[in-house]
Amino acid sequence: MSGLDQVNHEISRACDAAARAVSSVRLIAVSKFQTVDAIREAIDAGQKCFGESRVQEAEPKIAELPDDLEWDFIGRIQSNKIRRIVEHFGVIHSVASEAHARAISRVAGELGRRPQIFLQVNQADEASKDGFSTHRLVEVLPELLELPHLEIVGLMVIPPIESETETSHWFSELRELRDQLEVQFACRLPRLSMGMSADFSEAIGAAATDIRVGSAIFGGRERPVP
Ligand SMILES: *Cc1c(COP(=O)(O)O)cnc(C)c1O
Repeated sequence: MSGLDQVNHEISRACDAAARAVSSVRLIAVSKFQTVDAIREAIDAGQKCFGESRVQEAEPKIAELPDDLEWDFIGRIQSNKIRRIVEHFGVIHSVASEAHARAISRVAGELGRRPQIFLQVNQADEASKDGFSTHRLVEVLPELLELPHLEIVGLMVIPPIESETETSHWFSELRELRDQLEVQFACRLPRLSMGMSADFSEAIGAAATDIRVGSAIFGGRERPVP
């Protein structure tokens, strides 16, 4: 069985266990550092949605591959790359500041686009990670919801790796935060982007709608020497 088949199999199992429909989970095949040939293999096996974390790496791949794919941006956002991100990606998972959200909306307006965005949450207040603290999110969400040229679809998290706390704790906490924000601001944040190769089944159990899975599909990544 290919990595992709195994992941899809595991998704159905996790959905069964959580009494969820398989169609309620969107699998993003994280193709960063993977070749176009590896991506083509996944496309041939039925995969349509891919995640990339660097614009300059993604652009040639997007240009070379069929037009009917969905590309999600999952990497750290740099202000000077926002135009290219909005040009190429319909979904942006890693919006981690108000300034970036505003810039995305402005550029999307200019380009006649309306990307779906996730607000990245830094639940553990890790210095090494981007993301809104829970406290900050509560402060800025009402203004962000007013931005005209983007659609805030939900919250995203990359849980701490070196943590005494179990990953599933962070997943349930993100869900609870989402539930609280929906009530507090009378808004809809239907999607939760959480779960990677090591923990996507748990994430599905905790209501993830968008899982970002790389190595379990493609095998290891050769990181290019910078
Ligand atoms: C690389 C990456 C993933 C995929 O990680 P795997 O462990 O290979 O599944 C998911 N999310 C983000 C934000 C990433 O950068």
